Amino acid sequence: MKNQYRFYVERELHSGCSFDADEGLGFQLGRVLRLSRGDTVSLFGINKKEFLTRVSFHGRKITLTPLRETAAPEEPETRLTLLLALSKKDKPEAQVRSCTELGVSEFVFFCSGRSVAKPDMPEQKTERLARVACEAAEQCGRVTVPRIGFRSPEELDYSAYDACAVCSGPASEKSLKDIAGRNVLVAVGPEGGFSGAELDFFEEKGFTPVSLGSLVLRSETAAAAAAACLLIK
Ligand code: SAM
Repeated sequence: MKNQYRFYVERELHSGCSFDADEGLGFQLGRVLRLSRGDTVSLFGINKKEFLTRVSFHGRKITLTPLRETAAPEEPETRLTLLLALSKKDKPEAQVRSCTELGVSEFVFFCSGRSVAKPDMPEQKTERLARVACEAAEQCGRVTVPRIGFRSPEELDYSAYDACAVCSGPASEKSLKDIAGRNVLVAVGPEGGFSGAELDFFEEKGFTPVSLGSLVLRSETAAAAAAACLLIK
């Protein structure tokens, strides 16, 4: 039976190989959840395996022992990378949260010409978004935590994808539903949309301009709609 509490740990997990909980997880297990000796939680790690794990307390130290591997849900057949123009406020967090739940593999953020938000310290934003991705994976049952990065579209290696699409608006002739592939890259614009020069750049790189329907979606809705369209079968 699956355990109610699930946590991601940044390490490989193997049956019987005990380790000590770090401060953050220790606080969650001991102070927040008030677990006691012999309780179990579910842990999943960087080797994408999930284990029913015994929690033992030794004074202030909490030792975790993976006991039995549990079945993990399959990842979608399509590996989807979202190339997201940075939107303002906490919209990037909303995009990462919902799209992690929908099965997106990787998020690449960039400041587009019409992005209102321009973070001085992308490292801090990346850390915050990585935490959101972790929490979303813990919540939804995935054993894969998507990667988060900041890179400009000029820096990307497009040969890694077998299909690239840009969500260019309701007027596009093609629909995202027409796009298929094992490794797909989809670009979504900011509040003000992509500029003409940005759309030209994507066209030069071989992106297909696509529509997500006849209505204008907010950038966070557009990202989730794109993920649902390609990943939910
Ligand atoms: N006024 C802006 C425009 O015309 O581009 C609206 C931008 S919309 C709020 C933010 C982003 O979501 C767009 O740049 C686009 O990538 C995507 N988007 C929104 N609705 C869409 C639709 N129906 N089809 C394709 N992409 C859409």
